Order: sequence, then C-alpha cells, then structure tokens
Amino acid sequence: MNKCFICKSESIKVILDLGQSPVANNLEMNLEESLEAKKYPLELSKCVDGCSHIQIGNIVNQEEIFSDYFYMPSVSKTLTNHLEEISSDINDKFKINNDSFIVDIGSNDGTFLNSVKDYTNNILGIDPAKNLSDLANKKGVKTINDFFTNSLSKEIKDNYGEADFIVSTNTFAHTPEVKDFAEGLKTLISDQGVIIIEIHYLGSMVSDNSFDTIYHEHFSYWSLENLDELFKNYDLEIFDAKILPVHHGQLRIYLSKSGNYKVNDSFKKLLKNEIEEDLIGKKLTSFCNKVKEIKKDILNLFKEIADSNKKIYGYGAPAKASTLINFIGSKNLINIYDKSKLKQGKYIPGTSLIIKDPIEIINDNPDYIFLFAWNFTEEIIKELKVNYNYKGKIIIPIPELKVIEIL
Ligand SMILES: [Zn+2]
Repeated sequence: MNKCFICKSESIKVILDLGQSPVANNLEMNLEESLEAKKYPLELSKCVDGCSHIQIGNIVNQEEIFSDYFYMPSVSKTLTNHLEEISSDINDKFKINNDSFIVDIGSNDGTFLNSVKDYTNNILGIDPAKNLSDLANKKGVKTINDFFTNSLSKEIKDNYGEADFIVSTNTFAHTPEVKDFAEGLKTLISDQGVIIIEIHYLGSMVSDNSFDTIYHEHFSYWSLENLDELFKNYDLEIFDAKILPVHHGQLRIYLSKSGNYKVNDSFKKLLKNEIEEDLIGKKLTSFCNKVKEIKKDILNLFKEIADSNKKIYGYGAPAKASTLINFIGSKNLINIYDKSKLKQGKYIPGTSLIIKDPIEIINDNPDYIFLFAWNFTEEIIKELKVNYNYKGKIIIPIPELKVIEIL
C-alpha cells in the first residue's frame, strides 16, 4: 500500500491514470529488450485525508532510476547557461565569499559547482549516479556518490562544517523521502545560510496541460502552498520565489531559517494567486479531465488518419515522449526522428518504435509528423521546412491538440 510521502496517510487517491509505462529515461538498445521492458502503473495521486500532497501513485525503486543516469544538463547550452546564472544570482543577492561553503544536492556532472569556482573553491556535490559523480570528480568537482539523507547531512556537517548555500535543481521532487530530505537541509544549513531549490512547478504543468512531465522518476508535484507548509515544520521559511521559463515552467524558491529575511512581496503574491485559483483543488481536477479529453481527441484523429491510409511519424524523443506514447499507444506511429546521435538506433522503451535520423524525412515523406518535443514547436517547424523540405501536416498535442499544414 502506498502512503503519502508527507503525512504517511494511506488515503491517497488516484486522480489521473496514465496507463502502464516503463521507466522513461532508459532508451532500449534492441527491439526484444524494448518490448520486454518492465512496465509500472503511471498514476498521479493526491493525499485526500491528511495534507493534499500530490505525488506519483506507484513508487519505482530509486536505485533503479538514478544509479546510472543519462540526463546531463551540460549537453544543452541553455541549461548550462541557466545553471551558471544561478551562481551569479546568488552572488548578486547574498554575496559569495572566497571561503563560503556551497553544497549542490543532485549535482549531476558538476556543471553548477564548476561555475561557482569563480567565487569559492569550498564546494561539495552529492549525486547518486555513479557515472555522473565519477565524471564530476574527474573534472575536479568534489562529489559524494550517494543519495542525500539527513544522516549524510550530519556526516557532511561534522566533516566540512555548516553550508552557507545549498543549491538543489531538479532533485527535490525526485525522492519519496521528502521529510528526511527537508530534515537534512535543516541540519546542514548555517543560521544565516540560504537554500535555493528548483523544481518543476505543478502550476505550470496544470496551465499548459503538460501531463507528459509525469513520469516515475518525478515523485512529487509541488505547489507553492504545499512547499510552504512542509518547510514550516522544519523551521525553514520560503522568503522569495520565481517562475522561470526553463523546462517549461520551473519554480525557484529561496529558503532560510525562519525570520532571517524579509518575506518578499512577489512570493506572497504568487502564493495568494495560487490559493485563489485553487490550484491543488478545482484547477487540478479540471486538468485531469482535460488530459482525458486530449487523449480521446488524439485517438479520434489517429483513427481518421488511419482510415484515409495516411502515415504518422513522430518527432523528438525526450524522456517525456515515453509517457505520451504509452498513454496514446504506439501502434499508430511508424517511427520517431530525433537529431541526437546518441538516441538514434535505439528504441522507445515498451514499444517497437525506433529512433531515426531526421534526414530520413526526405525519403519517408510522412503525411503527418507528431511533435513529442512540442515545447520546441517553432524551432522544429523551421527545421522541417529548411533542412528537410517537408511538406505535410504537423500534429501538436499539447497544450491543445492542433494540426497545422506546411505547404
Ligand atoms: Zn498527506
């Protein structure tokens, strides 16, 4: 029986059932492995009795997901810039001294901490992926290969002292051990220290219908209201927050021990809006209904296309494509194109869909192209026209299902 990660209540209710899906980040090397990939129920659920926490319905062992991890922000210029911007943001707002101790939880290949070296060499990364922490250590970014827990936090405090800054991007929502993580933050942060956490924001997922950002490695779906409530229990206070455009809707919060910083008006306003809009209530319910409608509309469209003997190919194979493909079924698609050489020749797990070089579009001549990387619609349309001289229809599933024609 699954329990709420926060209040441990067993009254968690499935609010959105996305079917069975394999772990999204693992592309498969061959067809047999792909078809045999273990599938787990993919469900969004809500704690209805205790605390309104929104979480994944079925927990896949963290080791299985994170011990070998292939997502690296350093391969993207935009994401590298984003991480570098965090270090200048911290320095501008709070001033990093040359002996400031900065800890990055979920430090990946050390990209963020590398950018901090301009200010201080007193840095420490923590990451459960062996391949990534080896890479970071090789680059000279001292990294502990482990999950962040309160007991690790105590060890770090004993060995290195309290942290002046703790940064954690895209990691806090990736653990079911939320309370232990929060306790660990409280243990490690100094009295005047600042914690900066970035996570995918529930409000953004709901407003752009991006249900494809629900996958097994993404354990919790945070509203500001729920975050604020949680951290109060650890004597930590959110004093500032902003919503950033990366990863289509990223929330950055700034925390410190209660009473250290004046709580910023922009945070108060975001929180007030969220509560007025009833994000974790009515708004979330209508999102779940909308997702079911989108599925129905996509399947109707697929049927129409199949009836007229036309062919659909997919474009873009980000992790979130797995959620969407397993939700709408793969049988209507011929294959998927992706520019990444690393992905080409591999299979979308759980399907027979192979990833091909988009140059093949010229020969395949698809009637329809279904955009899985819908958040890059404009960029992709331009590439389809200019690089592959594509003429045909494009299906954009999210935020609203839409078909456009390139002539
Ligand atoms: Zn709860």
